[in-house]
Amino acid sequence: MSSNLAKAAIAALLCQGALGATVLRLCLQDRADLRMPARAALIQELIRLFPSARLSPDCPGDPGALAITLLPQLSGQPSDALGAMAVRADGVIAPPILVFVNAVVAHSSAKSEEALGLALARVAGHELLHFLSQSREHSPAGLLQERLSAADLTSRSSLGSPQRERTPEPVATAR
Ligand SMILES: [Zn+2]
Repeated sequence: MSSNLAKAAIAALLCQGALGATVLRLCLQDRADLRMPARAALIQELIRLFPSARLSPDCPGDPGALAITLLPQLSGQPSDALGAMAVRADGVIAPPILVFVNAVVAHSSAKSEEALGLALARVAGHELLHFLSQSREHSPAGLLQERLSAADLTSRSSLGSPQRERTPEPVATAR
């Protein structure tokens, strides 16, 4: 897929919502059987990080949306990998967004279901920023840091203010 096609694919995920606001269509595919409080916290934090996102609770209900797939683990992944996306031979970063729940539990030291949900959302958000920017680069601070600490993942405040723009703007969130 060329980078123009990648841009077209990203554009297809952005549909016009009510009142002309751009909407980022996401869906959740939970293969790790999260408990409800973790799932609720995950959804709430993703919406806080990406206010323009519309998140379907199940991917079959929204086939055109970008899938966030929660897996307990994936064989062959380095044990410190918290999430991943496929990078094709031509450099295109392609869905789904994978989040490795066992690794996030271990790395975040989350002490509650709510803290685990926050951590999972931030890992998913990190991967989503890679996808939206079609870049593997990291930033020195914020959600797009190469190594998110346990505090970055679970603290109520460490990743700072929510994105202010109504349209997805990866750089603003990563700052
Ligand atoms: Zn990264």
